[in-house]
Amino acid sequence: MKQIDSKLRHLIMVAFVFIAGAGFSFGQKKANIVILATGGTIAGAAGTSVQSGYTSGQVTIDAMVNAVPDVLKLANIKGEQISNVGSQDMSFEIMMKLARRIAELTAGNAVDGIVITHGTDTMEETAYFLNLVCKTDKPVVLVGSMRPSTAVSADGPLNLYNGIAVAADPNAKGRGVLLVMNDWIHSAQTLTKVSTTAVQTFMSPIRGLIGTTAYGVSEYYRYPYSKFGGKSEFSVENVTKLPRVDIIYADADMSADLVDASVEKGAKGIVIAGVGNGNMTKAALDACVRASKKGVVVVRSSRVATGNVGRNVEVNDDELGLVASSDLNPQKSRILLTLALLKQRKLDEIQKLYYEY
Ligand code: GLU
Repeated sequence: MKQIDSKLRHLIMVAFVFIAGAGFSFGQKKANIVILATGGTIAGAAGTSVQSGYTSGQVTIDAMVNAVPDVLKLANIKGEQISNVGSQDMSFEIMMKLARRIAELTAGNAVDGIVITHGTDTMEETAYFLNLVCKTDKPVVLVGSMRPSTAVSADGPLNLYNGIAVAADPNAKGRGVLLVMNDWIHSAQTLTKVSTTAVQTFMSPIRGLIGTTAYGVSEYYRYPYSKFGGKSEFSVENVTKLPRVDIIYADADMSADLVDASVEKGAKGIVIAGVGNGNMTKAALDACVRASKKGVVVVRSSRVATGNVGRNVEVNDDELGLVASSDLNPQKSRILLTLALLKQRKLDEIQKLYYEY
């Protein structure tokens, strides 16, 4: 009896230690986040704290993380330097490198989310590109800053903290590639840069925010309306070179020359940053029709910050052989067309992509 008692006591103790241990580790379980650094102002340094000129990509991942040591309470962090450029020099090569690394890192159970530090200038291109080609439903979050790390009231540390918190948050899963800056969570499909200098530079006009975050505590309002991730048909697996697509800016008295030159230089696609509802002069429109007849896909987008470019509204796209960008701005229209042209597609199929993505 005594023996049974001591065996039972032993068993109870083992069970207690196991349950307490498991409870402790669940309570303490932190997400595993990988930071992929690409450069930009968030890693930038200036000579003084009140200087607007600075060199981007000067600060290491460790130094960025050390500026916000509290992130280590949110997640286990590892970092990798993918590139070190101001994002005006962001290239498809780097975007494809990012896409491949994200696919590798998110394939197993070891990584819960990805944070990409990036310059703000072309963040919308990289975010939208990754939104189309990354298949994971784990959070992939871009963060940047408008002020270098050495500035008074640098915005990078809190953006990084919030970005890591969102990447570590299971509620952020399945919402596509996100951008977290200045407390706002944007979808890659909607975000656009609207100010050259203000910290509140990103907006998601018309469709609105995915959510908000305050010191890492986040609220989510919606899922993206467009296709992305696992539902996207695009992939850059085994792709080494992407087709040339040019953006041409329209204005009053626009000539046909740049459209013709783009075709001559071998563009497979042209996006017009049109005036108003994707319009341009008669001369430019005629050049677009010439291009279309030669098999170059011409997409009419708009230089206007918000609103749709409608098919067959002011321009008869059916008759002229053109595509309307719907709600994609010129820079995102270019990304979609570049990926779409990896495969032979009819014009109406390309038009459908603009409604779906
Ligand atoms: N032009 C630089 C870049 O995009 C700095 C702008 C920024 O990061 O905010 O990387």
